[in-house]
Amino acid sequence: MRLLSPAKINLHLRVGKTGADGFHPLMSWFCTVGMFDTIEMTRSDGREISLDCDRPEVPRDETNLIVRAGRATSEESRAARGAKIHLTKKIPIGGGLGGGSSNAATSLRGFNEIWDLRLTSSDMAQIATRLGSDVSFFLYGPSSVCTGRGEFVLPIDRPRARWVVLVFPNISMATPRVYRRFDEMNLGSAEAIEQQPIWKNWTGLRADELLPLLVNDLEAPAFDLCPELGRLRENLEQSLGRIVRMSGSGSTLFTLADEQAQAERIADRIAGDSFTAKAVELCPLTSA
Ligand code: C5P
Repeated sequence: MRLLSPAKINLHLRVGKTGADGFHPLMSWFCTVGMFDTIEMTRSDGREISLDCDRPEVPRDETNLIVRAGRATSEESRAARGAKIHLTKKIPIGGGLGGGSSNAATSLRGFNEIWDLRLTSSDMAQIATRLGSDVSFFLYGPSSVCTGRGEFVLPIDRPRARWVVLVFPNISMATPRVYRRFDEMNLGSAEAIEQQPIWKNWTGLRADELLPLLVNDLEAPAFDLCPELGRLRENLEQSLGRIVRMSGSGSTLFTLADEQAQAERIADRIAGDSFTAKAVELCPLTSA
């Protein structure tokens, strides 16, 4: 079977202080975006889960979240099984777009199908939580508010602003490092994650009404670690005359638009030497 594995952005990301489990509590509005990896999966005899990928830098061993999803799924159903998987990567790595987490959630559904396990959504949600903080979102999508360390997922309406311009700087950010710097800078507050906006008001706003409300608490530590990224954001905001935010722990930056043509105009205007820009749909129906 062939499955599309979408990227995400965090439209809004508030972060609290580290909890007893060593993770940071979050309150974040996640949306899928129209950029997809492809996962082809077939059942095989024996117990081996073999993975190959068109990108050499992607690990194929137990550190890959698809392989871990396969192992966890087969343990959950108490029967080891085999699979052959081919992954075609389009989502940048280290970009704050959740590619690895999306691959884990999408392949989890795939293993359930090809091995005919009949796991329920709640069985899969439990496995997802063990695999990583963002994996649960991708089981639900396409527009959801995630709390806890990301594992509590509340689906909400898609935003009215349905287009996003993604800016990909040639920089890879390591999520644990950004969170560490967040702690070193003594950032994070309980109020930030407790006070939720009235989401049904936010989802009805146009792009230029919504953008000023959006916050990403990981921007300060990411720009402190990588001042070049902070400068790029400033330059883009100045040249476009519109707000630009970072997704997740970076490095992808984005701005929103109401229509495809507007998003494409913005992307054409800003493509630069040290980065690329692309207009894509927010919460595309194919990922529902
Ligand atoms: O769960 P995931 O593997 O995506 O997290 C990567 C790292 O990011 C964690 O090991 C942790 O250092 C940090 N993290 C965090 N709080 C979160 C999510 C991630 O501190 N809510």
